[in-house]
Amino acid sequence: MSNSPHLPAVNREWQLVKRPVGWPTPEDFALVEAPVPVPGEGQVLVRNIYLSVDPYMRGRMNAAKSYAAPYELGEAMRGGAVGEVVASNAEGFNVGDHVVHDLGWREYTAVDARDAVTVNGEIAPLSTYLGVLGMTGLTAYAGLLRAASFQEGDIVFVSGAAGAVGSEAGQLAKLMGASRVIGSAGSDDKVKVLLDEYGFDAAFNYKKAPVGEQLREAAPDGIDVYFDNVGGDHLDAALGSLNLHGRIAICGMISTYNNTEPAPGPVNLFRLIQTRGRMQGFLFRDHCDMQPLFVDQVGPWVASGALKYRETVVDGIQNMVEAFLGMLRGENIGKMLVKS
Ligand code: NAP
Repeated sequence: MSNSPHLPAVNREWQLVKRPVGWPTPEDFALVEAPVPVPGEGQVLVRNIYLSVDPYMRGRMNAAKSYAAPYELGEAMRGGAVGEVVASNAEGFNVGDHVVHDLGWREYTAVDARDAVTVNGEIAPLSTYLGVLGMTGLTAYAGLLRAASFQEGDIVFVSGAAGAVGSEAGQLAKLMGASRVIGSAGSDDKVKVLLDEYGFDAAFNYKKAPVGEQLREAAPDGIDVYFDNVGGDHLDAALGSLNLHGRIAICGMISTYNNTEPAPGPVNLFRLIQTRGRMQGFLFRDHCDMQPLFVDQVGPWVASGALKYRETVVDGIQNMVEAFLGMLRGENIGKMLVKS
């Protein structure tokens, strides 16, 4: 099989060329030209439309082994993407289908059919399959229901609350009957979105005053659930405000991802004894069995507007590294995406 003459011959892909120490810089990456691949037996050729940039990708830039394999230097990077099938060598996939897969950071890719999931752009915008109805959405859902064992009436605190996972976790808690939802975010504009658009009961800018102080004010009756996207002083503060039998879902610790020294542990873990509390780390991919339930319950809320979402979309694959760095710096509201 060869590619149609209507397709471009040249593909662009991002490669990691140097392992960052601390904050990554643009010099750690290169946008490289490569041939558009020809799909092999059982593969589809996909033109990527939306590319995802996610905090976990920072971990993959280190050589150390973690839950996702390190990026190899000089190879195309990977990540979530949604695109259009432009050639198919696989049964069940037709030209024009849209698929989600994990070979992002490039314009065209040949994907094994078993690694591609068909999505319907007429039911929901294609970009949502990477965000509110995709990986970050399932993370919020599984984290809240499983890791945090959320129950109706809980007082819930969410950090990173204006981001993709956090904004959905807070709204889901509210829609499922939380008695109070509190969010923290890194700017006054984000705090305004939490209060005015997403229906949080209280929200604060963590850069303005100590988190513990602001949380005590926002949650005078303490918290039953903490959905942690940030770690560090947020985790200390949540432990400090935790109620009896409180639960902490450890989703992410973005405040530590660019550290060059190990982050100090929580100063008040003893609170787990006082409160008979529980901290539970989790990974969304262990909860894929919840996907049908997630789509059934959350899809209608998204469609009706009961659950609101925003996306920050950066145009052009050439700006993808800047989009990734911008997300780490907090320049996004909702899911950070790149339109290829
Ligand atoms: P996101 O929240 O949409 O974007 C990252 C946000 O982190 C930024 O917008 C920024 O917002 C905030 N941030 C950056 N540095 C910070 C700091 N030092 N202190 C506090 N906030 C900081 O990203 P996301 O994709 O939804 O991911 C959120 C968290 O979930 C991350 O920790 C990620 O690793 C984790 N995650 C876990 C899983 C899992 O399966 N466990 C899956 C997906 C994501 P501000 O302006 O508010 O600072």
